[in-house]
Amino acid sequence: MPRVGLLERLKSGRPVIGDGSFVFTLEKRGYVKAGPWTSEAAYQYPDAVRQLSREFVRAGADVVQAFTFYSTDDKLEHKGVSDRSVSEDVGKITSKQLNNAACDIARQVADEGDALVCGGISPTPGYMKGLGKEVVQKEFDKQCEVFIEKDVDFMLAEFFGHVEELEWGVEVMKKYGKPVAATMRISTMGDMNGVSTAECAIRMAKSGADLVGINCLFDPENCIKTMKVIKSALDEAGLKPFLMAQPVGFYTHEANQSFGGYMALPEYPLAMESRIITRAEAHKFAREAYELGIHYIGGCCGFEPYHIRAMQRRYLAEERGFRPPGHDKNSLWGIDMAQSSFESLTHRITKEYWMNLNPAAGRVGAPDLAKIDKFDG
Ligand SMILES: [Zn+2]
Repeated sequence: MPRVGLLERLKSGRPVIGDGSFVFTLEKRGYVKAGPWTSEAAYQYPDAVRQLSREFVRAGADVVQAFTFYSTDDKLEHKGVSDRSVSEDVGKITSKQLNNAACDIARQVADEGDALVCGGISPTPGYMKGLGKEVVQKEFDKQCEVFIEKDVDFMLAEFFGHVEELEWGVEVMKKYGKPVAATMRISTMGDMNGVSTAECAIRMAKSGADLVGINCLFDPENCIKTMKVIKSALDEAGLKPFLMAQPVGFYTHEANQSFGGYMALPEYPLAMESRIITRAEAHKFAREAYELGIHYIGGCCGFEPYHIRAMQRRYLAEERGFRPPGHDKNSLWGIDMAQSSFESLTHRITKEYWMNLNPAAGRVGAPDLAKIDKFDG
């Protein structure tokens, strides 16, 4: 049976559930460098990338994003960050090799379920250096050529801090005729060139992207606030792209008015554990996002497979009559604690208990909020 495409799925009214954290999670597992955040693991450690992708699909994700973050040649060369000569036999990893490897993994895992493959582009050092449209688009083109060769189901421009660079990316992607999504790493303060959030929304939609929204840097609560600004700007302009949101799975309250978002927090990137959202909070976010009219709901850094499982529960399990594998082992509200020998825990097996919990840090003297650092982005 032919796979139902992204736009058809969205038009049917059921939200599409994205996947979650890749670079951040693979760094903790020892496959990605904190700092460069490049994705050469797709080439060097395909099993590790395949396993994480599989966990997201098993948790109910409708999409496997090929692990192509920061995988342009100019990024791989930037400051020599990418372990291009990590071992004698790997040698120099090119954007083409890396994107090829990432697409192959994504397709293999997607085909094990009923998921879609997404090929993504992200910001380039060429833009920051002011090298201009032609140079930047050349880097995007190299990635998109691989996406077409590998027949991805749709393309995504993500993590853009400047709407101008995103427009250049969408222009390249639109040439190839696949559905295109576009998300920026912005809060309510607009982009890093001073373009307001409302204007970014309008420009993303006018660029021809089928889906527009935000990803990364800010927490789910702030994501909802920003998406409200985006939605009302689009409504006012009479533009009707599908909406997409993939926030980080951490609380970032103090940094929500910093362009760096979670990068401005003193705990970033190696001590973010105390800020991780619970699975009930992921569930709450997904419901709020759906009620706001967001059609594509996923996660970025910090969103682990169990968060995705919690997000999709209502829509897939109750409305579609479908439960992804693992539901028997991983019940959302702790039903299996009824089988525990410790009867004192059984009052915790309700949805209300977990949805209303205000988790403590358990760390004496821990501050409620941190003093954020200056961000130079
Ligand atoms: Zn992220």
